[in-house]
Amino acid sequence: MPVTPAAAKRIMDRIDELAKISESPDCLTRRVATREHRMANDLVASWMKDAGMQVREDAIGNVVGRYAAAERSTKTSSIMLGSHLDTVINAGRYDGMLGVLSALACVESLHEQNMRLPYAVEVVGFADEEGVRYQSTYLGSRAMAGRFNKLVLSREDEQGITLTDALTQFGTSADEIDSAAVNPDDLHAYLELHIEQGPVLENGNTPVGVVSSISGATRLMINLTGYAGHAGTVPMNLRRDALAAAAQCISIVERNCSTEAGLVGTVGRINAKPGAGNVIPGDVQFSIDIRAASDSLRVERVNTIVEEMSSVCASRNIEIDIENVHEAASVNCDALIVKHMQSAVASMNYDLITLPSGAGHDAAAMADIAPVGMLFVRCREGISHHPDESVTEDDAISGAQVLMQTVLNLCD
Ligand SMILES: [Zn+2]
Repeated sequence: MPVTPAAAKRIMDRIDELAKISESPDCLTRRVATREHRMANDLVASWMKDAGMQVREDAIGNVVGRYAAAERSTKTSSIMLGSHLDTVINAGRYDGMLGVLSALACVESLHEQNMRLPYAVEVVGFADEEGVRYQSTYLGSRAMAGRFNKLVLSREDEQGITLTDALTQFGTSADEIDSAAVNPDDLHAYLELHIEQGPVLENGNTPVGVVSSISGATRLMINLTGYAGHAGTVPMNLRRDALAAAAQCISIVERNCSTEAGLVGTVGRINAKPGAGNVIPGDVQFSIDIRAASDSLRVERVNTIVEEMSSVCASRNIEIDIENVHEAASVNCDALIVKHMQSAVASMNYDLITLPSGAGHDAAAMADIAPVGMLFVRCREGISHHPDESVTEDDAISGAQVLMQTVLNLCD
């Protein structure tokens, strides 16, 4: 029972339609609890209703459609499919939306063929995954998982509008956030299809990949304090150059993270003071982002990096201060769902690639309340969070077919 040609065709049309709903006339930006979030939810809700679904919206602004189970079914839980409808600033049109609309295409295909499954099928468009407006990720899926951090409600956006006020303007209520939580007993599985955001599938020449796990991450902020001085008068052996020390630290990160597949380390931001061409830098701040599918490997490597950086700084008479700003454990995809996804890929005669996700996704938050699985769809050159993000129609259809087959496998 594949995704029907009519439903498949609508995936790309609808992605293009959603891409027109933007806070900016020049590019795609759609943040949580804005007028554009309201418009996107209403549009998606109308499509869900057309596909025979009952639609609800929860207090954080997640939109959820439910396609009821077969009447004689005794199953009380549902299979939930989805992704997010918010974007970063100046975004691509597929990140998030492809997952929601592929899920919708699966339900539309069932509806067109008058088919009901033993499980109800729910489609969710999460309100906020990117966290652009309030610098907090997974607001939508965390609320659904009952793990919402209420401290975020009083945070202000750039215009000074708190999340509480934004939700009121949006038409929901921060007081009701707890009611967004879904009972784990009501969920049989959560499946998310997403663009890969990396080059592995393109290199492997295959349209759809199966995600094994979502990598854990450690983010550190490093402050190095040396001593600023004149670039012409202080001899090299008497310097306490914080930027030269940082350069060594950065190569320590790169070396330690280059030894194992699935382990990555990045220094993405650096700031040197006083920041003049003729002054020895006395203060440097830089970020470190380390991710791995294995938590023990990540923790061991972070410890090694910290030790090596500390000894470099000691030998250079530089003070080092290390702040751990983010720590997230890795999330394994459910073994049975992975198996169902792999056999769905195999049934379509695609080469099977199973890979970890280096990026975070709503599935990581949903793993607290349901077995989760993820499919990746190939995207051009691995580009994402950028207007050049690109997915072919054929690959989008392939992704939806594998998602549909996975749902059917889960019902067997
Ligand atoms: Zn995304």
